[in-house]
Amino acid sequence: MPGILDGKKIAAQIKDEIRDEVKKWKEKGINPCLGVMLVGDDAASLAYAKFLKKVAAGVDIDFYLEHLPKDTSEDKVISVIDELNHNKNIHGILLLLPMPKHIDKQRVLDSILPAKDVDGVHPINRGYILSGGQCIYPATPLSCLEILERSGISLEGKHVVVVGRGETVGKPLIYMAIAKNATVTVCHSKTVNIANYTKQADILFTAVGKPGLIKRDMVKDGVVVVDAGISEVDGKIKGDVDFEEVKEVASAITPVPGGVGSLTTVIMMKNLLNGISMQQVISGGVV
Ligand code: NAP
Repeated sequence: MPGILDGKKIAAQIKDEIRDEVKKWKEKGINPCLGVMLVGDDAASLAYAKFLKKVAAGVDIDFYLEHLPKDTSEDKVISVIDELNHNKNIHGILLLLPMPKHIDKQRVLDSILPAKDVDGVHPINRGYILSGGQCIYPATPLSCLEILERSGISLEGKHVVVVGRGETVGKPLIYMAIAKNATVTVCHSKTVNIANYTKQADILFTAVGKPGLIKRDMVKDGVVVVDAGISEVDGKIKGDVDFEEVKEVASAITPVPGGVGSLTTVIMMKNLLNGISMQQVISGGVV
């Protein structure tokens, strides 16, 4: 039985694969490069940009930061995104959130070329999740599934319960689990007695942001638990699941930190490489 699902170990495997793939692109004359757009000086976004640069360097991917002042107009932000869309040396674009209040976030996200949308947030990529077409999937739900796949845990025929239906994690995960032939139940803040449902889960995904929401008596013995929740409690990062209690009965469980969160930026780099293949198809190989 896999026991504790070690996100850091899986991330290290994926990083090795990415480095190999980057090498192949470089041999073809393409230097994979992530473009990050930051508007304003949000401290967490600045720190995340720094972290992304480090992760990219660790897998030999170039990094470009487009840092605009906080009073930049929405039209200007969109025109800069458009330049990145057409820049043949930039292969993926990540817009850091939050943006200043005067900017319509969705309008900016919608302006990113779907084949460069490394976090799978563009409506076209979202739509393809439903129809099963080739697209870039959002990094966090993809990380949840990647952890299971690389641990030899299949979703096929399993009763999957997803707690949380947020746009970033829960909602896309619902459809991605159905595509893996799971039978899916969804719980959210209006679900009455979520334990009724979580107790029936063969595989339980949580993406809520409420520390300790899932207790020992809310799951069945042998459950597989993937916890995407992140909250800060007394300066420590906690998941949605009471890890110490639930690990005693789970056949496999992700820790927080050290689980899903360890994969997401690495998966984004993988998305960037998948995007290069799509850009090659779109441009007939001239990108
Ligand atoms: P979100 O949009 O705020 O969604 C939260 C969801 O939880 C909503 O569907 C909400 O229900 C549901 N919910 C709230 N209270 C609940 C309760 N008591 N019982 C059951 N469901 C409840 O959040 P998100 O952006 O999807 O993110 C979810 C979590 O994932 C957060 O902790 C976030 O920090 C984390 N996250 C982690 C990563 C990573 O790299 N690991 C990346 C992104 C996000 P309603 O729909 O009814 O409001």
